[in-house]
Amino acid sequence: MEYQAKELFAKHDVPVTLGIVANTPAEARAAAEQLGTVVVKAQVKAGGRGKAGGVKLAKTPDEAEQHAAAILGMEIKGLTVNRVLIAPAASIEEEYYFSFLLDRAQRQYLCIASVEGGVEIEEVAKTNPDAVKKIDIDPGSGVDEEKARAIVAEAKFPEALVEQAVQTVLALWKVFVEEDATLVEVNPLARLAGDKLEALDGKVSLDENADFRHEDHAAFVIRDEEDPLESQAKDKGLNYVKLDGEVGIIGNGAGLVMSTLDVVAYAGEKHGGVKPANFLDIGGGANAQVMADGLHVILGDAQVKSVFVNVFGGITACDEVANGIKGALEILGDEATKPLVVRLDGNNVAEGRRILDELAHPLVTQVDTMDGAADKAAELANA
Ligand code: GDP
Ligand code: MN
Repeated sequence: MEYQAKELFAKHDVPVTLGIVANTPAEARAAAEQLGTVVVKAQVKAGGRGKAGGVKLAKTPDEAEQHAAAILGMEIKGLTVNRVLIAPAASIEEEYYFSFLLDRAQRQYLCIASVEGGVEIEEVAKTNPDAVKKIDIDPGSGVDEEKARAIVAEAKFPEALVEQAVQTVLALWKVFVEEDATLVEVNPLARLAGDKLEALDGKVSLDENADFRHEDHAAFVIRDEEDPLESQAKDKGLNYVKLDGEVGIIGNGAGLVMSTLDVVAYAGEKHGGVKPANFLDIGGGANAQVMADGLHVILGDAQVKSVFVNVFGGITACDEVANGIKGALEILGDEATKPLVVRLDGNNVAEGRRILDELAHPLVTQVDTMDGAADKAAELANA
């Protein structure tokens, strides 16, 4: 969120003014009493808040309270606003755009900069692409002072701001590298009265793969902003991503799960357009507890109508997986209410299938092929 991004900016000496986070109109009023003229800013993980009416200037504490009352609870790009940032109002003369990001396709970093920043940046990129500079960054050498000067020159920052811009670019690069970010974006990076450069907005994406070396990043997780199913799965150590469909998916191995999503989406076309409800990779540990944890999360999704368990037995053989499913159904008891389509193949498949046949659980259907099982799961989800 913007207020968190600004905390990281301040830590690395990016020029920024921290405000006060308010959860209620009364708190917004109190903050404005302290700060004077303020901007009341919706805090959601989405851009375009200004255009959506989520950024409002308040000259008095009364106004701040009223704006906060209007903005709190507002929906912006499908996200509910639960908190606002009360930031001291700045007098803006010009708005610039600046970002560092990971360019996966080119396997390097990229800097995007424009002196025509502000809320219309996407429009500028379309109608006047030359005004938006894209500067490649060699990940080996990164951004030193020389590179920072080259960026500032290429973006055509005004003469009076060059030195500040170079220092700000270096500071933003520190945020990007030292915090292990995949995106650091500032829009607007503003020229304030008196030729002062300041980051008035901020967006940072942190690479979760680097969490182990950033204990302090855990504090940025806001529980009430997370998908409840995803945080439940995270607590259980599951690789789960919620999607917007009806067929729950459990598989072992990210590649198999990805292709399972594809075959289910494809099969769904013949069954009312049902789609996969999630990504869940249970990896090698398909024992009863892991299977039960996975099913528990998936069955907790009210949108789910059927579940497809697609396992290719390797080191974890099919009989262990079958026993895992059996054990999971015992653990879940009455909680298991939705049909399960199971496709087992690979190591010890005959024994795995025999175990499930013998179990003869009313909710479990075995199908031998992946396409056939996807079709069955889609059909049941549409029934
Ligand atoms: P976004 O729309 O989600 O990117 O939110 P921003 O924080 O970028 O705010 C949108 C716009 O509101 C900015 O481009 C500015 O024009 C304006 N704005 C934001 N903060 C201030 C401020 O402190 N003072 C003034 N005058 N305008 C501001
Ligand atoms: Mn912005």
